[in-house]
Amino acid sequence: MSETKRADGRILAVANQKGGVGKTTTAINLAAALVEKGAKVLLIDLDPQGNASTGLGVDMADRKATSYDLLVEGAALADVTRPTQVKGLQIVPATGDLASVDVTLVDEPDRAKRLAQAMAGATGLYDFVVIDCPPSLNLLTVNAMAAADAVLVPLQCEFFALEGLSQLLTTVKQIRRALNPRLEIDGVVLTMFDRRNNLSHLVAKDVRANLGDKVYSTVIPRNVRLSEATSYAMPATVYDTNSAGSLAYRALAREMMQRVADAHAA
Ligand code: ATP
Ligand code: MG
Repeated sequence: MSETKRADGRILAVANQKGGVGKTTTAINLAAALVEKGAKVLLIDLDPQGNASTGLGVDMADRKATSYDLLVEGAALADVTRPTQVKGLQIVPATGDLASVDVTLVDEPDRAKRLAQAMAGATGLYDFVVIDCPPSLNLLTVNAMAAADAVLVPLQCEFFALEGLSQLLTTVKQIRRALNPRLEIDGVVLTMFDRRNNLSHLVAKDVRANLGDKVYSTVIPRNVRLSEATSYAMPATVYDTNSAGSLAYRALAREMMQRVADAHAA
């Protein structure tokens, strides 16, 4: 962790411009697993699809105050934060109006720093803030990266996984230079790993050869319980606490907390 790291919660942007790679599943289940370990966690849904909000059971009727208000209306973080059914896990929900943020903020010189400004000094209540990004490197993702300490990249074990990654890493470098010098890569987590599929093994080996210890040892298996849990509006760690997916996200949370502790000790 860099010297400029603030004393309050670690802010993680869960990002990959490729769609359907497991960003939201990772955001929800990692957040829930961190809470199980005693951490106070805030999940910010920054995707107009609102999948993290739905996946944590926040009904549309309960989305009066959202991440749109945070970015566009200048709302305070505390005023758009609400509890979830998971004790210790708070959420800033999202609605479809987030999709218009690019256009709405087009004339605002500080448009890339809206989230960072809204979060400055307001995250002291949390050990971790997890931001679920949309599948694009648009203004929303840029806001997440400008506000974050680090980027967590879920990477699906399939062909071309590394190609999209180089574009993402270039974006991180640009944001570090222009907007947020403390931004680092937290790590890459391999998702939807199918151990009976040779391709999964090949891709995993390739990614580790290229990115070394930035890749988490923990691998998230393909596990139907993870997708089922979403339709029951709860994290898999709650829906089926001993499923392979739940165990994997718990291992990821453990590995992440260990890394943070090691970085503090160093
Ligand atoms: P988007 O880019 O649209 O935001 P995403 O990157 O957030 O997508 P998810 O929504 O987490 O990806 O996952 C895409 C789909 O794959 C969902 O239906 C989800 O339930 C399923 N899924 C995610 N991870 C796994 C897994 N490890 N095993 C099985 N299904 C999974
Ligand atoms: Mg998503």
